[in-house]
Formats: sequence, C-alpha cells, structure tokens
Amino acid sequence: MTQHHSVLVVGGGAGGLSVAARLRNMENPPDVAILEPSEKHYYQPLWTLVGAGVVSKESTARDERDYIPQGATWIKDAVASFDPSKNAVTTKGGETITYDQLVVALGIQLDWGKIKGLEGNLGKDGIVSNYLYETVDSTWKALREFKGGNAVFTFPSTPMKCAGAPQKIMYLADDWLRKTGVRDKSKVIYASAGAAIFGVKKYATALAEVVKRKGIETRFRHDLVEVRAKSREAVFKNLDGGDELVLKYEMLHVVPPQSAPDVIKKSELAADGNWVGVHKHTLQHTRFPNVFSLGDCSSLPTSRTGAAVRKQAPVLVENLMALREGRALTASYDGYASCPLVTGYGKLILAEFDYDGKPCESFPFDQSKERYSMYAMKVYALPEAYWNGMLRGRM
Ligand code: FAD
Repeated sequence: MTQHHSVLVVGGGAGGLSVAARLRNMENPPDVAILEPSEKHYYQPLWTLVGAGVVSKESTARDERDYIPQGATWIKDAVASFDPSKNAVTTKGGETITYDQLVVALGIQLDWGKIKGLEGNLGKDGIVSNYLYETVDSTWKALREFKGGNAVFTFPSTPMKCAGAPQKIMYLADDWLRKTGVRDKSKVIYASAGAAIFGVKKYATALAEVVKRKGIETRFRHDLVEVRAKSREAVFKNLDGGDELVLKYEMLHVVPPQSAPDVIKKSELAADGNWVGVHKHTLQHTRFPNVFSLGDCSSLPTSRTGAAVRKQAPVLVENLMALREGRALTASYDGYASCPLVTGYGKLILAEFDYDGKPCESFPFDQSKERYSMYAMKVYALPEAYWNGMLRGRM
C-alpha cells in the first residue's frame, strides 16, 4: 500500500507533536501525517522526580491519541527505512509513504546492550534507571530500601538526552538518605565519563559547591562498561588509560550509552553515520532540502532536552513553510537549551544557555542559586506548559 502526505512527521514525541500542532494551527494548514507506533506519550522530564518518589509514574503518561492535532493523520506504525532521494519512507507494517516535506523527530536510542552483564538485571537488586518508564519505579524502591553502603550514579561517554538527569537523581538520593538517617552509613559516588560536573562554567561552579556540601565523591573520566550483578560490582573503564575501577554498590543508577536510532544510522539522512545531518540554525537537512529534523535524533550541537525542542519547533515550522511557499529560510535557532538541575527536595538551579555555552537566563535573578521557586516551577508549572502549551503548538 502507498499513501502520500504533504508533510510527513516521523516520530510523535515532544518534537514531532509540537511541529505537527504548529502546522495544523495555521490558517491554511497543510496536510500533515504523523508516523508513530506508541499508544502512549511520556513527559520524560518528570522521571527524575518519579525516581525520587515525588510524583507517580502514571502521571507522566498520556494517550498519544489525545495529542494528535485535529486534522492530522496518525499512522500507527514505525518507520523501517528512509529513501530521501525518492521522497519516501517504508514502515515496519510494509507500507510506503511519500511526502513533499519530511520532519524527522525519532528521539534517541538507548544502547543498554553495550553494558556487559546488564541484560536481564536492570530494575532488579539495586540496579536501577530513570531512563525507562518500565524501570523508573525501581529507583524509588531502591532508595526506600537503602540501609547503607555505596550508592553509585553513572554518566555515559556518548551524547545523551538531558545530561543533567544523571546528577539530579543523585542529589535527591543524597537528600533522601539524610532524611532517613542512613547518610552517615553510605557513600554517594558520581562515576562519570565526563571531565567535569557540567558543561557550562557558571553552573559547573555552583554544582561543584553542591557536590562539596553534600560530601559526594566524584570519579570523572570513568565509563561504566560492565555490571556484575551477583557480586554487586560495577566496572568502569578509565578513559585516560589508567586501571579499570571496580566499585561495590548497594544501589547503582545506570544511564545507558546512547546514539541515533539504527534506522537513521543506516540511511542517507545520517551525516556522520549517526545523527540526522541538519544545518544548525535553519534545521534543514544539509543534503535533502525538503527534509528537516529537530530534537534528540538531530545533529544539532546542543544539549538534548525538551526545552531545546520547544525553541526548535517554531524555527523548523517557519522554515518549512518558507520552503513550501518559495521564500528564503530566515528563521534561526540559536542553540538554546535549558536544564532544571534539581539539587534536593525543594531546591533547583535553572541552567539556560545557547550554542556558545553563554547563559541566557529567563528570570531577573541569578539562576545558578538553588531556589524553591524554580523547583516548584519544575514540579507544577512545566508539566502543564508541556501538555497544554508546547504539545498543542501554543508555546
Ligand atoms: P522523544 O520525545 O523521545 O520522541 C521520540 C518519538 O519517536 C517517540 O514517541 C517514539 O515512540 C518515536 N519513535 C521511535 N522510534 C520510532 C520509529 N521507528 N518510527 C516512528 N516513531 C518512532 N528535558 C528537559 O527539557 N528537561 C528535563 O528536565 C529533562 N529531564 C529528563 C530526564 C530523563 C530521565 C529523561 C530520560 C529525559 C529528560 N529530558 C529532559 C529530555 C527530553 O525528554 C527529551 O530531550 C525530549 O523528549 C526529546 O524530544 P524528541 O521529540 O526528540 O524525542
């Protein structure tokens, strides 16, 4: 079977739904189809707080159906291959869909299999992760059952979504262990493949103080490569060539290696064998002008966050419509991304920055200071803004 749509959006997550909604909100909206297999859409930024027992995991999931914009066609299937020279994609169900313009918003792939010994053990016996809806509850369970020992938090050597998330849950864990009186019987260890606590200096300075105050041990340039579930040991490669590090754990929060979805990697859309290669300001593909991409699967050299997607979507839509109408592509994305760094229950540092790592803060106060108001915004205001504003194409 073959079907044709003016604009085909592949992936109906944060980026795909925002773009589709903006297109369908127009006075003369183009024909839009969304290719997305999942019945549910998740607000992933709240998973940090699910892992710390602040909100339920069910509160982060909604029916995809309710967020398909009016008038858009939902094709409930997964893309199996891209053929941009023929303006076509094929689906797992065996359909071919052709398009005038294509928007690729497939998110990022979690490569759990790259960590030896993890398969079959994730979510059990203290090996936990906030990076999956299915395992996010295991973090909270491990915290509640923690009676002392090492709580180890990892950060991979690959690009990833929300690079702040691996440390946010660590700060919450530290706070929880203090509240429950077991912090003096425990070590909290951040074993990170990165070279520093954060990529933007202003916030890195503030976070280094938080780490110091909380007595957290850091092991930078260490990449988790193996989990020995039976002996409760995590094995780290020293990225500077030193000896491997083996840490005993009672609780191990794993953030997996990540990459572009395989379907992109094996397609002509991949710029460097990985991400969809787009121009960093216009979001237009560098080789196929009728293809655009945003979010975690794109080559945009910024922090992969929903906050970045919020700023990318209007630029993409403006440029896609300009192309359709034969106008010059003038809308430009400056790399804006944001990371609400929860530093404990009721405390948050709100990092906001652009491509140059220059802070671009929204509020008239120093956002590198821990504040309750910013925490409240994350818990109460941002989810509302996501479901009712961003996904509806209104902000
Ligand atoms: P997604 O929203 O992941 O959507 C991708 C879509 O593609 C999904 O619906 C998926 O089902 C679909 N798909 C996959 N494969 C196929 C296929 N073959 N065919 C068709 N469709 C397919 N961001 C923030 O801004 N602030 C935060 O505080 C924050 N915290 C986070 C904490 C955690 C623990 C995690 C995991 C993420 C966090 N993020 C945060 C990141 C944010 O959720 C992502 O950056 C954002 O969702 C990216 O949007 P996207 O559209 O690129 O991908």
